[in-house]
Amino acid sequence: MGFKSSRRDFIKNISIGAVSAAPTVSAIAACAGKSKKDKLGIALAGLGSYSSYQLGPALLETKYCYLSGIVTGTPAKEKTWAAKYKIPQKNIYNYQNFDSIASNPDIDILYVVLPIGMHKEFTIRAAQAGKHVICEKPMAINVKECEEMIAACKKADRKLSIGYRLHFEPYTQEMIRLGQQKIYGRLMEIDCANGFRYGGDPNAWRLKKSLAGGGGLMDMGVYCIQGARYTTGEEPLYASAREEKTRPELFKEVDETIYFELEFPSGCIAKGISSYNMHLNHLKVKAEKGEFELSDAYRYGGMNGRTPEGRMDFPQVNQQARQMDDFALCVLNNKTTRVPGEMGMMDMKVVEAIYRSIASGKKENV
Ligand code: NAD
Repeated sequence: MGFKSSRRDFIKNISIGAVSAAPTVSAIAACAGKSKKDKLGIALAGLGSYSSYQLGPALLETKYCYLSGIVTGTPAKEKTWAAKYKIPQKNIYNYQNFDSIASNPDIDILYVVLPIGMHKEFTIRAAQAGKHVICEKPMAINVKECEEMIAACKKADRKLSIGYRLHFEPYTQEMIRLGQQKIYGRLMEIDCANGFRYGGDPNAWRLKKSLAGGGGLMDMGVYCIQGARYTTGEEPLYASAREEKTRPELFKEVDETIYFELEFPSGCIAKGISSYNMHLNHLKVKAEKGEFELSDAYRYGGMNGRTPEGRMDFPQVNQQARQMDDFALCVLNNKTTRVPGEMGMMDMKVVEAIYRSIASGKKENV
């Protein structure tokens, strides 16, 4: 093994040497004109609450990227954001002139923070404009859209990642370690729930099927699906589900509460609840030799975890800053992101199986 790898390195070094021994004029020009950046520029598309209160502030704490541009349909927001984050006018776009971002070297990454029904369009337009993309969760309104987004980024040779901030959060990383390394033995059952009581605008995009794709399951339930997937390290085979509506006049187009069950190849069962009616926020795991859990499992901070040994104790971090820095490093070093488009698409396959099960009343293949 040692011999093989050193031999491989030797051959690789020889071939690099052979190329660098006789560089072409165009190769020298390309290198001279392309000094590697140490901080990449991110533009946020959609300046609603997640951009305003989480991503914008997080970009003041990042080491490998910074907020270099914005894309907004609301002219009034341009001034405030430009002043707060020192964004030059030339880096401010609207949804119509967005494609001219292609010729702007200040913007390396587009972060899509728009309603879910707009994720596909802006991810594809960004990739075609030569930008790497972070797209918020859930990735799109169905699996077909996810496929198109992945294909477009691949075709444009751009990286695509999904805004799964918890993969960069220490309590979640501990759940992944405990579960996937079977520290307390085989996993038997997972109880995962995420929800809040929706009291917002009855005309909001989150209640419209065309813009949201679905309701509590798409918005909150995706965290439970993620929790079950990252704790087991497996992909579910089957889903069964039922739906409950206490306010059908508000949730005319989308789901309010869904109870679902996912079956994993190892035999582990995940029981989940997604809700726009109940305050829920946990990820609890029963393993052969003990139970471990996060009882604040999906928040931006204030995580709270327990194992058979006692309370977990990890630093609270800025999840979004870590997530964006990690992606910037992936772009800078040409590495694969741990939260790629394929991960977002798998969640949508589970979401679709859950919706199919509600419609059929039967267990469905994922
Ligand atoms: P929001 O309603 O606060 O903001 C949406 C933005 O999109 C607004 O600025 C709005 O002006 C703009 N917009 C453009 N076209 C629109 C249209 N046709 N209808 C409505 N708005 C339109 O939403 P948000 O909470 O910021 O969510 C945006 C995205 O971020 C969603 O995909 C959501 O799931 C995701 N999100 C992720 C997290 C997380 O923890 N990762 C948290 C919150 C939201």
